[in-house]
Amino acid sequence: MLSRKTVARQRRPKDLASKPAPDELRINDLRMDELRLDELWMDEALRCAQRALELGEVPVGAVVVCAGRIVGRGWNCNIAASDPTAHAEIVALREAGVTVGNHRLGDCELFVTIEPCVMCAGALVHARIRRLVYGADDPKAGAVASLMQVLKHPHLNHRVEVRGGVLAGRSAEVLQEFFRNRR
Ligand code: ZN
Repeated sequence: MLSRKTVARQRRPKDLASKPAPDELRINDLRMDELRLDELWMDEALRCAQRALELGEVPVGAVVVCAGRIVGRGWNCNIAASDPTAHAEIVALREAGVTVGNHRLGDCELFVTIEPCVMCAGALVHARIRRLVYGADDPKAGAVASLMQVLKHPHLNHRVEVRGGVLAGRSAEVLQEFFRNRR
C-alpha cells in the first residue's frame, strides 16, 4: 500500500502539465546541439572564405562534413586556376569524393558561406549530398531560395535537406569587404 507521503510525491503539480515531456526535451536538446554544430562548421567555411579573400578571389568558402569530421575544404579559385567551375562548393566536393572514395556523398553535409549558384546546386544533387547549410542569401545568383529553387524541383529524384541563414551576417560581411576594396 502506498503511504500518503509517496502519493504526495507522485502527484504532478499543475504547472508541469504544460511543460514538454522528457522525450521532447531530449529531442530539443539534440536539435540545439545540431544548430550549434552548424555554426561550428560554418566557422570553418568562413575560414576557407578568408583564404580566398587573401588570394584576391571572391571570398566564398565551403566544407564537407561526414560523420563529424571534415572530408573536404574549398574556396573560390576561379582566377588562379583559370577555371570557371572552381567555386568553393565544387572544390570541396571534389576533395570529399577523393577522401571518402566515392562520387556519391549521401552521408555528407555541405556548409557554404553563400547560397549556392545553379551549377553548385546541381553538383549537390549529383553528389547526393544529404544536407546543405548555407550562410547569406545571394539575391543575384542564388539557386536554392533566391533566384531559383533548383533543389526543390519536383522532377529531381534526390532531396537535399536545406538550412540557410547560418552566420549569415559574417558571411555577407566578408563579401562586402571584398567588393568595397575592389572599387
Ligand atoms: Zn557556385
